[in-house]
Amino acid sequence: MTDARTEQLREALAATRARIDAACLSSGRDPDGVTLVVVTKTWPAADIARLASLGVRDVGENRDQEARAKAAELPDLRWHFIGQIQTNKAASVASYADLVHAVDRLSLVTALDKGAARAGRIVDCLAEVNLDDPADGSAAGRGGVRPEHAGEIADAIAAAPHLRLRGVMGVAPLGGDAAEAFGVLAATGADLRARHPEADLMSAGMSGDLEQAVAAGATHLRVGSAILGSRPPLG
Ligand SMILES: *Cc1c(COP(=O)(O)O)cnc(C)c1O
Repeated sequence: MTDARTEQLREALAATRARIDAACLSSGRDPDGVTLVVVTKTWPAADIARLASLGVRDVGENRDQEARAKAAELPDLRWHFIGQIQTNKAASVASYADLVHAVDRLSLVTALDKGAARAGRIVDCLAEVNLDDPADGSAAGRGGVRPEHAGEIADAIAAAPHLRLRGVMGVAPLGGDAAEAFGVLAATGADLRARHPEADLMSAGMSGDLEQAVAAGATHLRVGSAILGSRPPLG
């Protein structure tokens, strides 16, 4: 496809890759160690096909129904499920997701494992770590386990026969210090690797804070609006 939208995406993708390369250069990292996951939630499958034609292989979604339909249409991409998962949607997510980023409770581990078994798949998972300040009431209800409880969820994922523990994921607190939050996430990941050496991935950083995430050691960046534009409001 070579329409105007494709050209717009090509430019935005190049600008984002340039930001990632610059961040890698200033922290002495190899850009090959950083995977750009393009967050395509709310955008049509046609945009994902355009991104694929521009070399994008990893895409992220946060709603099961939407993700499932898009993954069925474009099965050759790597599908990242980056959102909170209701337990009754877990089996569906496990049937198409290649990496589930936000695993934050034992009931979800059980449900994902069952779904993966039923689909005959092994699904890679990250433990979501809540990086909000516990004293900040406005953060209540956001996903993730406190850093001190990440080990419990990680052990449960590692023990599930159809799941594979691959690391940690976090979202910087709204209006907070992203560099500090990602430092906590990196330290939590390093702790887990003492028992689970295969848990070597760190998903952190979005359009506004990808530089801080690269500096802290992120292996996966989840970037939406910087590439696709600002999302239309959910109806
Ligand atoms: C939407 C979303 C992103 C992408 O955010 P942008 O600011 O659009 O880059 C990243 N991570 C999660 C968990 C999201 O829900």
